[in-house]
Amino acid sequence: MYLRIDRLQIELPQPKEPDPNAAAAVQELLGGRFGEMSTLMNYTYQSFNFRGRDKLRPYYDLIANIATEELGHIELVAATINLMLTGATRPGAPETAPLSAGVNARNTHHFIATAQTALVGNSMGAHWSGDYVFSSGNLILDLLHNFFLENGARLQKIRVYEMTNNPVAREMIGYLLVRGGVHAIAYAKALESLTGVEVSKLLPIPKIENARFPEARKFEEMGVHRKLYRFSLEDYKDLATIWRGPAPGGDGELEVVDGPPAGGPVPDLPPVEEEFAPGLAPEEIVELARKLAAS
Ligand code: MN
Ligand code: MN
Repeated sequence: MYLRIDRLQIELPQPKEPDPNAAAAVQELLGGRFGEMSTLMNYTYQSFNFRGRDKLRPYYDLIANIATEELGHIELVAATINLMLTGATRPGAPETAPLSAGVNARNTHHFIATAQTALVGNSMGAHWSGDYVFSSGNLILDLLHNFFLENGARLQKIRVYEMTNNPVAREMIGYLLVRGGVHAIAYAKALESLTGVEVSKLLPIPKIENARFPEARKFEEMGVHRKLYRFSLEDYKDLATIWRGPAPGGDGELEVVDGPPAGGPVPDLPPVEEEFAPGLAPEEIVELARKLAAS
């Protein structure tokens, strides 16, 4: 089961202006084949379907625990998209076409279907699919797939970074490049312990260091690339059997951190009258708050 913490894994900057077309590109990192929905659901189903858990505990703990971190990643990418869409339109009477900005936006569903928030789909508007989940039941093949998935995700994050200089998008991408690097190394180490093959020699894929990206460099300077957070009160303690030893960059030791990162607040999204979202007038909200406080 899951406990939930009402915080994001990092604090996102407040955007200065709306950026709906860049938000449409960022959708790829949420609901694309290599997006966070995919890493989340791949590791989640692999952990649900894991055989021989008691004897293979460190591998189960690794996959289950990284799955939980990915749940926080979809939350972070969704929050990024929501911030980038904030203020894309202005209130106005329906006959003035207050949503007209949506007509020429890359993703019209952001304006018609979701009231200017994240969509469970990719940058071309296609919905995320369960077909993206690989859970074969073969531990080495699943880990090899996860290593591939993390590196595919890294390549696409870098490409989206190169498409936009939006500061909210870049902060999120910088952090997730570092976390994805941790996951790629973790899966490589798991494969190395099972097969003896030095998988981590392939890294980084593509051959460009995280430190080349200022937003990622900042997190590496904080040591985020050496940490595997244990997202549980009492469980998944065998992570440290795999996540240990010198960091690949030669700058310290890998460590399991007991508990989540401190993180930052979940942004509060303002009402968008012209979308009828949340669909309550300010005076109705005040009245509702009064009623709820009295009951
Ligand atoms: Mn992720
Ligand atoms: Mn990952």
